[in-house]
Formats: sequence, C-alpha cells, structure tokens
Amino acid sequence: MDTQASECATALRDKMLIGSEWREAQSGATIPVFDPATGKAIACVPDGSAADVDHAVETAWRAFRSPAWCAMPPAARERLLLRLADLLEANGEALALLETRNNGKLLAYSRMFEVGAGAQWLRYMAGWATKISGSTLDLSLPLPPGRRASAFTRRVPVGVVGAIIPWNFPLLMAIWKIAPALACGNAVVLKPAEETPLTALRLGELALEAGFPPGVLNVVTGRGESAGAALVAHPKVSKIAFTGSTEVGRLIGSVCGRNLKPVSLELGGKSPVIVLDDCDPAIAAQGAAEAIFFNHGQVCTAGSRLYVHQGIYDAVLSRLAEIADGMVVGSGLAAQTHMGPLVSQRHLQRVRGLIDSGIEDGAERLCGAAAVPDEGYFVRPTVFANPDRRPMTLLTEEVFGPVLVAMPFTDLADVVAQANNSVYGLGASVWTNRLDAAMNLSASLEAGTVWVNTHNMVDPNLPFGGFKDSGIGREHGAAAIDSYTTAKAVCLTYAQ
Ligand code: NAD
Repeated sequence: MDTQASECATALRDKMLIGSEWREAQSGATIPVFDPATGKAIACVPDGSAADVDHAVETAWRAFRSPAWCAMPPAARERLLLRLADLLEANGEALALLETRNNGKLLAYSRMFEVGAGAQWLRYMAGWATKISGSTLDLSLPLPPGRRASAFTRRVPVGVVGAIIPWNFPLLMAIWKIAPALACGNAVVLKPAEETPLTALRLGELALEAGFPPGVLNVVTGRGESAGAALVAHPKVSKIAFTGSTEVGRLIGSVCGRNLKPVSLELGGKSPVIVLDDCDPAIAAQGAAEAIFFNHGQVCTAGSRLYVHQGIYDAVLSRLAEIADGMVVGSGLAAQTHMGPLVSQRHLQRVRGLIDSGIEDGAERLCGAAAVPDEGYFVRPTVFANPDRRPMTLLTEEVFGPVLVAMPFTDLADVVAQANNSVYGLGASVWTNRLDAAMNLSASLEAGTVWVNTHNMVDPNLPFGGFKDSGIGREHGAAAIDSYTTAKAVCLTYAQ
C-alpha cells in the first residue's frame, strides 16, 4: 500500500454509528461506495432501513434528555466543539484523502474546503454555544389589584434533529448541520448521501473522541427513499435540516408540513453571473470560470448562466474558452489536475444528457468536446454560447456539473429580468466597479446571496439560503441558532 492509501485507510469506517456502537444494518444489506476517478468500489456501508433509523432516533432521544447532555453548561458544549475542530485538523490529511477518494474532488479542495472550512465552522459555532439568549418582556395583562406580571423567553433546543445531506461537500455539509445543532444542545441523527458516507462516519467517531456523550451524534447510512424518508417521518425527530435537490426538498417539506415538523431546506440553483462593460475581460473570464468550474460545477450556487455586456462579450468568451480548454481533467489525487471526476456514473450520464440537450437546442459549443480518461466519471469543462438568447433546457434546469451557457446583453433592466426569470433564487454575482450598478443590481436580483466581484463565497457569519424554489430558511450565523432552537416563554405573577 502506498503512503496515501495507508493514510486514507486509517480514516475509513464502514459501519453506522449509533450511540457508541458501530453497527451493521439490521437487514445485513450494504451499499457499495465507489472511487469516481476509477469507477471501482472502495468500501461497503450498511444500507440502513426504518428499523435502524428508529434505533438511532431512540438513542438520540435518550441522549438528548440525559443529564450528561441536557445539563451540560454551554461553555462545556463550546469546549467539545473546539476539541472536535482540533481533532478534525489533527486528522486532516487522512480525512482529505478519504474525501477525494470517495467524492473525486481535488485534494487541495478537500484540504481547504472540507477540513479547513469544516474546522472554521466548528469554531465559529462553538462561540455561539455561550451566547444563546432570550429576552425580558413587559406585559399588559389585566391583573387583580396588588399583583404584577413579568415574563421572559429562553431559546431552548428543539430535541432530536434529523440532518440529511448531499454528496458535493460531504464533510462540510455534515458540519454545517451538526455544528449549530450541537452548539444549541440538540442531539442529531445524520444521514449522509449514499454516494459519500465515509467522512461523515469518521466525523462521528471524532465527536466521540472529543468527548460528546454517546448518542448525541449518530450517523446512519442508507438510501434516501428508505433511511432518509424514515428519518423525516419519525415522530421523535423534532426538526429536519435538509440540503439536496429541489425535487426531494419538496417531498420532505410536504411530509414535514403534514406532521407539523419544522424543516429547513437548502435546495438547487441556476445562478446568474452578470458582467458589465467596465470589467477587464480577462479578469471577468477568470471570475466566470471559477464561478462555474469550482468543485467541477457540483455546487448549488454554481454560476451556470453567464450574461456579458455586448461590448466585451466576444473577448470574455474567447478567454473563458481558453481557460476551459487549458484545464487538466483527471484524478483529484494528482497534483497537476484542475478538475476531477463527477461523483457517480448516474450523475455523469445526467450531465452528458444535458450537454447533448444544449447542442440539440442550438447553442454553440465553444469547448468541452475533447476526450476524457476512459475509466472514471469525467466530463470536460464545457462552455456554450447562446448569442440569440434562445430558450433552452440548459437555461432552466440545474446541471450540477461544469457546464455554462453564455449570453450577451446591453440593458441593465433587461438583464435583471432575464436573471430573475428562473424558479431558483440561490446565488447571483455582479462584476463591475460601478458602485451604482452594484448597489442597484444587488437590490433587484432575486437571490439569497448576491456577490459583487466574487462568486461562491460563503462564511459561517453570513446567512445562507434561497429565494423561491431554492429553499426555506437560512443556515449560519444567528439565523442558524434561531433555526435549531425554539422560544419558550415563562410568565409569572407576583405580589406588588
Ligand atoms: P438529493 O436530493 O438526491 O439527495 C440529497 C440527500 O437526500 C441524500 O442524502 C439522499 O439520500 C436524501 N434523500 C433522497 N430522497 C429522499 C427522500 N425521499 N427522503 C429523505 N431523504 C432523501 O440531492 P443530491 O443529488 O445528493 O445533491 C445535489 C442537489 O443538492 C443539487 O440540487 C444541489 O443544488 C443541492 N445542494 C444544495 C445546497 C444548498 O445549500 N442550497 C448545497 C449543496 C447541494
């Protein structure tokens, strides 16, 4: 075994974590896990069913009510989260290698955006544990003479949180859910995506090592339609935190609605990138390339619709095509690679089908047709020009891959109308040094986040979430603390 493979093996866990026990599925069934760069299986994890989910939720429920957790002072929860961040970094290289083997992303991305950003999120949320507060309220109730009333609120944890996450940032998405949930004193049952369960399992193990009481964080592997659906429907789960596709989000939202269960939904996107004519075409092209090609386009805020002012349209597109043509596609473990494989065979077929739809719909393919490695799930970064602004599937459907459609514009009101002409509203970026344009466009764009002269930038202190079909609720910052707690009012009367 080479050094990378043996380091990676130290982090590989292939059982579910319930309480402090590593378990097979009760049915004994398993799900194979693949390396997308080779298409070969690297592990098998339990295919959890409703029975396994029930066991995990009951375990989480007991842990939530146990004095070891519910009576733990906030400062002690803070210390546990800080310790978990330290352990994440101490085991960072093995975790990054495991993530790249399982998801395909560049090793540099795994180091920076899974382990590095993961530790940053844990530390940020650790700080919130000691800053959760309610308010004191004056009341106007009619009271008998000689009595007065007062009231206060407390923010209390909701109970057991069911967290369901996608495969594009497997470790970071897990941390985005568990860090605020645990900072607030909840217990969690985490269900990672069936494609990428490995780093979430190791995260569960590190949480035990950090000193979280067993059962406070459980990791159940399994399929969405069985384990995921059972978690959503479980009566002892008090909140669902979901990141994934709009289609599944809609389904989960309807089940939660019927069961009167709070739910936060971070869903899909079709984010516009708008380049004004005061930009240097080379800088704009670089920005547009990063907006769509980061993480192989498997980013919910990927800048997949590019609107460039007519005056610099040709210059930006030719530079963008050059950048895309120059990208080396290959294994995420190789130092020279700019873009790794897509996550799965199924996803590769979907992305290829959408590229074909662009050609059929009459877009001009500027790059992306060159050969890719035979084995593994590779596509080349692909740029389409759509100078006549024809309607096409690629303009409405989320690809979740490195595929961009570019169009010219001349009028700002018109480009805002085009950018907003989408069921999605997750992110948008504006590229200009004109303050008036930046302010006016950021006010008019229907998106949960509008970036100016950058794209895809997220921060633990910035609320993140979508307008329209891109979701409900906000993650990070104070918004996350609100969403993982509920207000309890205490009202008292006393003699004057
Ligand atoms: P997906 O919706 O197919 O799966 C996401 C998770 O939901 C997986 O864990 C899956 O097992 C589970 N799931 C599937 N069916 C379920 C069901 N019936 N009940 C309960 N759980 C179920 O999405 P995906 O293909 O894994 O991820 C890609 C999608 O995620 C894209 O649409 C992307 O935009 C979105 N995404 C959004 C954000 C955001 O923050 N807004 C971030 C990353 C990804």
